Amino acid sequence: MTDTLALLATLVALLIGLAVGKAWERYKLREGRWFDRRRARESPHYILGLQFLVSNQVDLAIEELAQAAALDSAALEIHLILGNLYRDRGQVGKAVRLHQNLLQDPRLGRTEQAYVQLSLGLDYKQGGFVDRAFQAFSEVTKIDPDNKYALLNLQKLHEEQQQWREARAIRRRLTDIADETGKPRDQAILAFIENELGLQAVRRGEPQEAIAHFGSALDLDDGTVPASLNLGDVHMRGGRPREAIAVWEQILDKTPERAYLTFDRLQAAYAQVGAPARFRSLCERLIADNPRDWRARLALGRHAVDEGDAARALDLLLESLRHNPHALAVHQVIWRTLEALEFRPSPVRRYFELTRRVVFYLDPHVCTRCRYRSTELLWQCPQCHEWNTFVEERPAQAENVVEASA
Ligand SMILES: [Zn+2]
Repeated sequence: MTDTLALLATLVALLIGLAVGKAWERYKLREGRWFDRRRARESPHYILGLQFLVSNQVDLAIEELAQAAALDSAALEIHLILGNLYRDRGQVGKAVRLHQNLLQDPRLGRTEQAYVQLSLGLDYKQGGFVDRAFQAFSEVTKIDPDNKYALLNLQKLHEEQQQWREARAIRRRLTDIADETGKPRDQAILAFIENELGLQAVRRGEPQEAIAHFGSALDLDDGTVPASLNLGDVHMRGGRPREAIAVWEQILDKTPERAYLTFDRLQAAYAQVGAPARFRSLCERLIADNPRDWRARLALGRHAVDEGDAARALDLLLESLRHNPHALAVHQVIWRTLEALEFRPSPVRRYFELTRRVVFYLDPHVCTRCRYRSTELLWQCPQCHEWNTFVEERPAQAENVVEASA
């Protein structure tokens, strides 16, 4: 995956390089120094370098392109590609020096300056020099205010520093310049940033401001699950369980696959308003809507064993297990239930038959963008920093177990 990303970055750099090369060519023609350029681009080193690049032999590509670059200090695209390759290879110092040298060239036009600054910003970011990266990306937006790469990088840097207001301002600019097809995704990201602002208000002990931020998040995208969860939590702490229930129940309709995140919360809230039976009918409704919903069965089973109906709990839990034999949480409640049934041989045997081929997966959540794995559901990926990209992986073997036990 890292290799693919590196190759992709390289190809993007190549395309940027070629675009800049075109602009540079015109400039060079005006200056009448056309032959120098051709010398570098027609050199076998340049052609060989590109060929190595396409076949992803980066070290050999660097070797050849460095020789081509040495032939012509003004062949901007070759230097740019080379600099980006150094960065990809982790040679940040070399990349920085190369890009800084390019910036010294007084013949650089504004577009080229923006590209070089952008590359420099990426170098600093890779090297962990946050302040300098900020500065370089900001320089890009001074030259080219709508530069999406620079804006996106600035947003991510602000997010990493938890500067959510700044991140929101930049995301709004990105939303303004995006075309209509990207709008829903932009709105969704803005909603997650609003949710973070709400959490900061919670930590500052300002519930009204928190409610306003969570409300804005849901106005932007009513499927922002953490904003609904957090809004309900603020209502609960404020002694308004009915408001909390109303907010959480909306999750069940909008994003039923995340309904389980509300279970503990709703169970407590229903009890508080004197309607504990509503929890059971909620789980039953979810199971009727989606017969494979193992979490609603687990919640119902836990509810049953708590109420002393271990026999009914076991039926529900074993059914839950059929749909996801790998979930440790289900096994744990089953152990408690078997204990309540005093380990009678017949229920123990049912459980044993169902689980003998089970493999446990402790990190079933996977980022759909970069394949980062996590034991728990995350709203922002710690590796690629994308929002709301985690899905739960269901190992194929689950199906086999169902068949074997049917
Ligand atoms: Zn990721």
